[in-house]
Amino acid sequence: MKIRGGYSKKILEIDLSSKTTRIRKLSDRFILKYIGGRGFGAKLVWDNLRPDLDPLSPDNVVVIAPGPLTGVFLPASGKTSFVSISPATGIYADSNVGGMFGVELRQAGYDAMLIRGRADKLSYIWIDNGQVEIVANDDLKGKGYLEAEGIIRHEIGDEMVKVAGIGPAGENLVRFACINADWGRNAGRTGMGTIFGSKNLKAIAVRGASDLPVHDVGLLRELSNKAFDSLKKNPYFEFWQRQGLMSVVDYLNEAGVLPTYNFRDGRFDRADSINGYEMEEKYKIGDTACFGCPMACGNINLVKEGEYAGTVVEGPEYETACMFGSNLGVDNFAFILKANAVCDDLGIDTISAGNLIGVLIEGCESGILKPGDVDGMTLRWGDEESILALVNKIGRREGVGDVLADGAKRVLEKWPALKPITSQVKGLEQSAYDGRATISMALAYATSDIGAHHARAWTVGKELEMGADWGIEEKAALVIYHQQTRPVFDMLGVCRLPWIELGFSELHYPEFYRAVTGVSMTIEEMFERSDALYNLTRLINVDRGVTHKDDYPPDRCFDLPIKTGPQAGKVVDRDEYERILDLYYKKRGWDENGVPPESVREQFNDKLDE
Ligand code: SF4
Repeated sequence: MKIRGGYSKKILEIDLSSKTTRIRKLSDRFILKYIGGRGFGAKLVWDNLRPDLDPLSPDNVVVIAPGPLTGVFLPASGKTSFVSISPATGIYADSNVGGMFGVELRQAGYDAMLIRGRADKLSYIWIDNGQVEIVANDDLKGKGYLEAEGIIRHEIGDEMVKVAGIGPAGENLVRFACINADWGRNAGRTGMGTIFGSKNLKAIAVRGASDLPVHDVGLLRELSNKAFDSLKKNPYFEFWQRQGLMSVVDYLNEAGVLPTYNFRDGRFDRADSINGYEMEEKYKIGDTACFGCPMACGNINLVKEGEYAGTVVEGPEYETACMFGSNLGVDNFAFILKANAVCDDLGIDTISAGNLIGVLIEGCESGILKPGDVDGMTLRWGDEESILALVNKIGRREGVGDVLADGAKRVLEKWPALKPITSQVKGLEQSAYDGRATISMALAYATSDIGAHHARAWTVGKELEMGADWGIEEKAALVIYHQQTRPVFDMLGVCRLPWIELGFSELHYPEFYRAVTGVSMTIEEMFERSDALYNLTRLINVDRGVTHKDDYPPDRCFDLPIKTGPQAGKVVDRDEYERILDLYYKKRGWDENGVPPESVREQFNDKLDE
């Protein structure tokens, strides 16, 4: 198969310690095997990995990879993956961001970049098409992300430059620091911002002027027009534009799986004060969209009056509204906006922060923690002042914030008694969907290669819809189907939300890929690539100590029945979970410890340029 478009076939490598750069050529064989985005990232991490690697050491690499469809005329085609070994979990990690950053990187002439080493002073990388400069700038120290982005743009003298970078939390090595881009977009999970901080890297700024190589522009235009039409004709389209992911609050609350009071309940009696209608009525002033996206799910909100007046933020999306709302007993949307803005400026993941603050409040309420453990604070559900104080303490590593800043894994090492009330898998704090009513979601969290994150497989809706009609065979297959489909979007550099929310078929993507690259690949062949990617990341994790014992959902999933609402009394049955996990391993072709066969390992010995 000949590749006729879609790739520059170049990766930019930067060593911050030696201040050197080099361009590495990609072979067609490498491209066709790993496709791009998260696929390129996982392979490059694997190639650069030692089993004893400390994620915060200069030897760790971070790969920044858009995909072959990023920035071409298609709906929702602005995604870029950040891939590394997580400082929070110690295992494979990635997180992606929308906006325009990856588009600009591709226009600068690169399919991906890889960064290793550590700058001797706080610096940013400035990529101006073919020119690459490492710019030390001490004035960026301690600056919130938004201010830092402004300083960098001003110094470069180009308002159109695209920037991705970190706030003080990344500099302070908060292990769940995120990477912000384009004002309010975040690669939120797994501590990719911490990796930047460990490298003394405040940001990357990029400007590109090249046209992206497209094989068949006429075909792409035809397919794109049809795709835009089909999205706009979806009956849900207009509502989605109004609320974006905030529409999910009501759906989950009515279904009884909205995390409430640190994942104790699945229903919040004041959900109508933190939902999409509340946002629309009182706070929303505009929309933003990633490149090429008619869905425009970024809600821009302004608090016009009261204690938080003047707060303006792109967000929240559902996860933030839940983790700083129902999960902490908060019913004030203005406060959620304030917490969102503070997290964005500090550069911390709202899911991990909201999750851990919930654990702390319950830990104090239940007497596991004493006032002396939490800087003498009195922590209560819905207490906005102390929640905001904790966010700031985390970002600046002050007092108890210094403990939380190390993430769930290390919090449990310090306070093992918190384990039954901490919702995490492999050290990653669980995101905002209750897994107790749907065993497939519990399995999805437990077998996710980055820990308890919903974006690997989100099966709640389908399992609730199928109810008693489905056995564990179908449920295990559903998890694998999601784990096959979602990497395809990340490898191609597009957003999965048209597929999830507006019924857009995954079968369109091989057609788009053919138009852009000239390569015919069926969806089954794409799924073979994503299965291989799942094997690759599993091997990385196995080499870093992950075994069968790590493939379990949080204790709370088994031990604490949902209290109220339509799922009241639901909990995952342990014996059934053992059966579904065994089945999952068999379907994946892994042994009873969850280890892929040795022959699989050999598939990844290839070099990128051979
Ligand atoms: Fe970006 Fe939202 Fe569109 Fe996805 S749906 S590309 S996140 S604007």
